[in-house]
Amino acid sequence: MRLSDRKRVLVTGGAGFLGSHLCERLLEEGADVLCVDNFYSGSKDNVAHLLSHPHFELMRHDVTFPLYVEVDEIYNLACPASPIHYQRDPVQTTKTSVHGAINLLGLAKRTGARILQASTSEVYGDPEVHPQTEDYWGHVNPIGTRACYDEGKRAAETLFFDYHRQHGVEIKVARIFNTYGPRMHPNDGRVVSNFIVQALRGEAITVYGDGTQTRSFCYVDDLIDGLMALMASPAEVTGPINLGNPNEVTIGELAEEITAMVGSASTVRYEPLPGDDPKQRQPDVTLAKSTLGWEPKVKREDGLRLTVAYFRDRMA
Ligand code: NAD
Ligand code: UDP
Repeated sequence: MRLSDRKRVLVTGGAGFLGSHLCERLLEEGADVLCVDNFYSGSKDNVAHLLSHPHFELMRHDVTFPLYVEVDEIYNLACPASPIHYQRDPVQTTKTSVHGAINLLGLAKRTGARILQASTSEVYGDPEVHPQTEDYWGHVNPIGTRACYDEGKRAAETLFFDYHRQHGVEIKVARIFNTYGPRMHPNDGRVVSNFIVQALRGEAITVYGDGTQTRSFCYVDDLIDGLMALMASPAEVTGPINLGNPNEVTIGELAEEITAMVGSASTVRYEPLPGDDPKQRQPDVTLAKSTLGWEPKVKREDGLRLTVAYFRDRMA
C-alpha cells in the first residue's frame, strides 16, 4: 500500500536542458520527481538547485540498461539533442533512443505508468512539406551523419505505437521543434547558444551556409507547458503531436537579431553547411491547439532577452 498520494514521476534525461526545467515545474505542481541521467550531455549543475527539495531524487543511470522503479508517469527525454553531442558517439545515440525506449516502455507496461516520448522535428528530416504537419512521413537520409538521431527517434516512435497497440501501454508522443532558453549548454553547438556566446565575447558569428535556411524557435517555458498538457490529456490522445513555435526566421536574420540585442560589434563569418542540414523547418501546431488548447506565448524577442541574460550571468 502506498502511504502518499503524490504522483511519482520519472524524468529520464532530467539533468539536461529541457529535463531540468521539466523537473522544476513538476516539483512546483506537487509531484515526487525521480530524475534519471547518465550525464552524457547534461549536468548535475542543471539540477543542483533541486537537490535539497524533499520530493526530488537524482539517479545516475544509463537508459540503455533496464530500470526497476515504481512510478505513475514517465517523461522519456534521455538522448543528446545537439548534433555535436549526438554525433560524437552515434552508436550510443541510436542505442539510447531504441534500447532506452524498449526499457522504459517495458517499465510502463509493468507499472501501468503513462509514458511520454520526447520525439523531434528531425523525424521529418529535410522536409518537402512546409510547414510540417503530423501526417507527413518525412524525408530522412537513413545513412547520413544525422541518421543516428533521426532514425533512432523514428524507431522509438515505432516502438511506442507498437507497445500501445500490442500491450495497451498509454503513450504520448511529442514532436519537439527547436527549443531554446536558459541552461542550454554553451558549447553544444546549437545555433541560439552559439550566436549568443559569440556575440557576448565579441567573436565572429558563425553562420553555416548562406544563412537562408530557416528554423522556428520555441522558448523553453512554452515547450514545458506543452509537454505537461500532453501528459495530462485524455488517454485516447497519443499524438504524435507537434510542439514548437511556428514563428519562422532565417539563420541570417537570427544572427542580426542577437548581435543587435547584445549590442555586440561581432561580424558574421560564413562557414560550410553541415551534412543533411534541413533547409527549412516550421511546425504546424493546429493539432496541439485543438487537442491540448496549447500554443506558444513567448515572443522570440522576449525569450532571447531572457536567454542572453542567462549567458551574460554565466559568463561574468
Ligand atoms: P540535453 O542533451 O540537454 O538533454 C538530454 C539529457 O539526456 C542529458 O542530460 C543527457 O546526459 C541525458 N542522456 C543522454 N543519453 C542518456 C542515456 N543513455 N541514459 C540516461 N541519460 C541520457 O538535450 P535537451 O535539449 O534537453 O533534449 C531533451 C530531449 O528532447 C531529447 O530527447 C531531445 O531529443 C528532445 N528534443 C529536444 C529539442 C531541443 O530543441 N532542445 C528538439 C527536439 C527534441
Ligand atoms: N547554425 C549556424 N551556426 C552555428 C550553429 C548552427 O548557422 O553556429 C545553423 C545550422 O546549420 C542549422 C541551424 O543553424 O541550419 C540550426 O542548427 P541547430 O544545430 O541549432 O539545430 P538543428 O539543425 O538541429 O535544427
